[in-house]
Amino acid sequence: MANCAVVGINWGDEGKGRMVDLLTQRYDVVVRYQGGGNAGHTVINEFGKFALHLLPSGIFRKGVINVLGNGVALDPENLWNEMENVRTKGVLISPENLKISERASVLLPWHRELDRLEESRLSDRKYGSTMQGIAPFYSDKYQKKTILAGELFDRDALRERLKGILEWKNLTLTGVYGAEPYTMEQMEEWLDRYGEAIKPYICDTAALLEEEQKAGKSILFEAQLGALRDIDFGIWPYTTSSNAIAAYAPVGSGLTGAKLDEVVGVAKAYSTCVGEGPFVAEWFGAEAEKLREAGGEYGAKTGRPRRVGPLDLVATRYGVKVQGATALALTKLDVLSYMDQIPVCVRYLVDGNETDRFPFPSRLASAEPVIQYVPGWKRDLTGIRRWEDLPEETRAYVEYVEKEVGCPIRYVSVGPERDACIERN
Ligand code: GDP
Repeated sequence: MANCAVVGINWGDEGKGRMVDLLTQRYDVVVRYQGGGNAGHTVINEFGKFALHLLPSGIFRKGVINVLGNGVALDPENLWNEMENVRTKGVLISPENLKISERASVLLPWHRELDRLEESRLSDRKYGSTMQGIAPFYSDKYQKKTILAGELFDRDALRERLKGILEWKNLTLTGVYGAEPYTMEQMEEWLDRYGEAIKPYICDTAALLEEEQKAGKSILFEAQLGALRDIDFGIWPYTTSSNAIAAYAPVGSGLTGAKLDEVVGVAKAYSTCVGEGPFVAEWFGAEAEKLREAGGEYGAKTGRPRRVGPLDLVATRYGVKVQGATALALTKLDVLSYMDQIPVCVRYLVDGNETDRFPFPSRLASAEPVIQYVPGWKRDLTGIRRWEDLPEETRAYVEYVEKEVGCPIRYVSVGPERDACIERN
């Protein structure tokens, strides 16, 4: 059976959660392979409305195995709280349908604190962190100064390891930031509370995925954030601290030999961006406010108003390339219904020259958008469920984008609900 990755094409918040929730009916296993509790995947289904941060979006489907791979930032505290919260809505979560990689590195309590301390030190030069400790966590992972989930099973050995890490981390906390040091007593308490809670879910997920694959099961890899936030290919340094791209799925999932048969890139019918960093086609003032209101563009994790603008073909084409997308899902078409004409950023003006190539990050600040307009449709799309029932102008817009970015748009969505997604044949 085919493997598929569902990834973000732009700055994140494209609607990956709803696409994974929809597509899981065709897959047996869903794996999160990078990122942590800084995700905010909105899913609306028969159980209610959820903003999933760490749990894979396949958690709602009976029979689907959900895996947190070795590449994720495993935050036991956030994960446990999220599990408890999702369970209150009647969703079953057990060691049968949720598996945590024993090789996942653990996000420790000071990572969140260090995030806050550093952003506050930077003040108006801040990176726009979601304050979930992701950057300090990944730095420590690569310095080998955190623990692996599997180490939770040997408390004595873990205590020794943590003592060493604590001694080192307290130098930074107290010496650099003048903050309170952490104590082993605090850590023991934290381990008792959250470490013990997630232990039943920890196993050798690489072996499990291999077996599932051998048994002919299909696997869906769920990314967090978008191509433009990827640590290697994004708008550095305003990126996340992990690889959000599909190419990382085999590594971060633990199925290192995985072949991706399909990469479904999710893009929005206009642009949004949470947090700091260059955002070339950004709108301001009343025009921005109108689009933000129409699209309900407020962060799922932080509640922050998202920055908005028209669809950016330069960034989207780049996102398609970086992701190696084989098909696209274009979401939130319904939001554009109020516009007489649909604005599209077709090129950038950089140093007096027009270009359709996405520039090197430090040159983005001086880039200006070149805008063109295509006809709008001025009709409510939310009740439409078939491609041929969409207004001609809407179909023309989709076909135009598809041609410009060089990737087939297989899905278009006209509302947040599970069934408000049209699959084109
Ligand atoms: P993700 O992080 O990529 O999963 O995206 P988010 O959940 O942060 O943001 C997507 C938002 O758009 C959520 O509030 C979704 O419910 C909503 N959404 C997704 N698709 C559509 C759509 O086609 N129309 C409308 N109106 N909202 C949508």
